[in-house]
Amino acid sequence: MRRLSACLVPLLGACAAAAPAPAPVPPVTTAPPVATTPPPPSLPLAQTGIDATWMDPAVDPCQDFFAYACGGFVKSTVIPSDRATWGTTESVQRKNEEFLRGVLETAAASAGGDPALRKLGDYYAACIDEPGIEKAGVAPIKPLLDRIARIKDKRTLAAAIVELHASNVFPLFDVSPQQDFKDATQMIAGLDQNGLGLPDRDYYLKDDGNLKDVREFYTGHVGRMLALAGMKPAEVKAATVDVMRIEGALAKLSQDKVTRRDPYKVYHRVDRGGLPGIAKTFPWDAYFEGLGFPGIQAISVNDPAYFTGIDALLGDDKPGAWRHYLAWTVVRTEAKFLSKAFLEESFAMRAKLTGQKELEPRWKKCVRSADGALGELLAQPYVAAKFAGDSRERARALVGSIAEAMRGDLESLPWMDEMTRVAAMNKLANLHHDKVGYPDKWRSYDFEVSRASFATNAMAAIRFELRRQLAKVGKPVDRTEWGMTPPTVNAYYDPSMNEIVLPAGELQPPFFSRDFYPAVNIGDEGANTIGHEITHGFDDEGSQFDGDGNLRDWWSKDTKARFDEATRCVQEQYSGYEAVPGVKLNGELTSGENIADIGGVKLGLAALRAWESAHAEERRAVDGFSDEQIFFLAYAQGWCSKETPAFLEMLARTNPHSPPRWRVNGPMADVPAFAQAYQCKAGTPMNRGKVCSVW
Ligand SMILES: [Zn+2]
Repeated sequence: MRRLSACLVPLLGACAAAAPAPAPVPPVTTAPPVATTPPPPSLPLAQTGIDATWMDPAVDPCQDFFAYACGGFVKSTVIPSDRATWGTTESVQRKNEEFLRGVLETAAASAGGDPALRKLGDYYAACIDEPGIEKAGVAPIKPLLDRIARIKDKRTLAAAIVELHASNVFPLFDVSPQQDFKDATQMIAGLDQNGLGLPDRDYYLKDDGNLKDVREFYTGHVGRMLALAGMKPAEVKAATVDVMRIEGALAKLSQDKVTRRDPYKVYHRVDRGGLPGIAKTFPWDAYFEGLGFPGIQAISVNDPAYFTGIDALLGDDKPGAWRHYLAWTVVRTEAKFLSKAFLEESFAMRAKLTGQKELEPRWKKCVRSADGALGELLAQPYVAAKFAGDSRERARALVGSIAEAMRGDLESLPWMDEMTRVAAMNKLANLHHDKVGYPDKWRSYDFEVSRASFATNAMAAIRFELRRQLAKVGKPVDRTEWGMTPPTVNAYYDPSMNEIVLPAGELQPPFFSRDFYPAVNIGDEGANTIGHEITHGFDDEGSQFDGDGNLRDWWSKDTKARFDEATRCVQEQYSGYEAVPGVKLNGELTSGENIADIGGVKLGLAALRAWESAHAEERRAVDGFSDEQIFFLAYAQGWCSKETPAFLEMLARTNPHSPPRWRVNGPMADVPAFAQAYQCKAGTPMNRGKVCSVW
């Protein structure tokens, strides 16, 4: 229903490129000729890509633009019982999952043939085999639990931790490869805080909002899960107390989420030689040996004090308490591979945190698990069906137009001095933005998969991936790798790579279609995603990395002071917004995302104007809406969504993104062109009389 005939509204001239450019018109000196071609017919709103039924025309757009653009959607949407939120992103995810389910079921039903399809089919068949999973019981985690049971002193405790890490279970801390912040051409190992079962340290340390209630529920949940794993009732109570004490101590040592947004606070190159200095009793040589990578030397820790703290903690508590904490970490991490009783108890915790009402059907879990384990095999039929034809070229043209808008923005920003402007232009010139849709080369998955055991397959996939990741340490960076699989409905900017990545899963209606009116594609995918991601390179976090991806201060002092002032303006603005009554947004935690949202809208707007002047012949009258009104409407509808209150509260506490309502109303209040387009009087919420402007 959204489809328009191809090339009726070509995206950014992609279709027009096939036709020869019109000859320049000579100056007219005589009477102008009578026009022989009538103007193109007006386009109904419903054919642009905007969904008129999602709107609520009774709402004044100047009071609450989110409610105007998405009020109809919110009113008519019932959050599915197996979700905590439902919006455009989830609806695209659902369509993608249904498609992938078809691929996997077909593969599972056919025996033999193509090896890639066989692997996918076997993986899915084992995952969907609930009787087989029930029969396995706790057997898949028994070897790890037995290993933990043998802990009797500090030496055997450390040895058990090493073994768990080698199995991708991470009590206390974790290990992964990362680009060296100071030399982005090289891969090093990063050791980082980990080991909490609740989503954030605040859940252990504070009592406001629902924190205390959630923590109390979690305490019971730990006990119920350990009992399911076979712990005797007499031991469960003591185990729960131990787990809460140790996790509470880890929470105190952990950096908070705002601190972790500062790259200088999470990067400390200590290397192998420096580890004994910060955690003197932990057997680091045995650790890297146990992981299978004794040669790893280049290492950064997030925070030396954290590692000093856990080293002391390891000596403080009794072996019995550690046995309880490690057993809990195994059960919590591996529950997703186990029987229904574990899934249901894990779900009960999730329901408490998010307000979700029902466990999702098994097939969805298996689609996601296959995407995680064999993502680029599963992606190939997806891309062929869902991102065909010239989709990639059109999306790349859109990316190019937004990058060009950023160049224009950098050229004209009044608060930048010339030295900083040159460095910023250099960063933009070095921005990689050709990863659109899917990788040029597909990766392989060299591990065994059979129909016999889901847990065995899933754990083999995880171990293979951990080894593949750690093998990168000490080597030059591979610039061809993707951090998301192609069906993923998301996108990212990576500051060390200085690149944006746009999977095909994101380049789908209602965000993007080759058949949408260009102002819709520019407003939604262009501003919402591409402009947003490009701006991340210049937000309060990304702007600390230079064009080569190195953490380096390329700012003049004065310009940096003005940038910081503009950032504070955004932080104060969003700190005033409420997620749910009584719980405000954290302006510092969300500032990078909010700067990216505001910047994205501005870049999209500049790209819209460039399109309007370069492709006047493609412009259409749309049911009384101007192109700018359509643009803002498309941006807002990209965020139409409804959430449970518990989910909104969790978002506000843990997520660097603002909730959808504020991802719309926040930027609109900061872009004067919005107030002009919708003729908002001064003093209305969308025209506050003050704008926060960074990029
Ligand atoms: Zn973002």
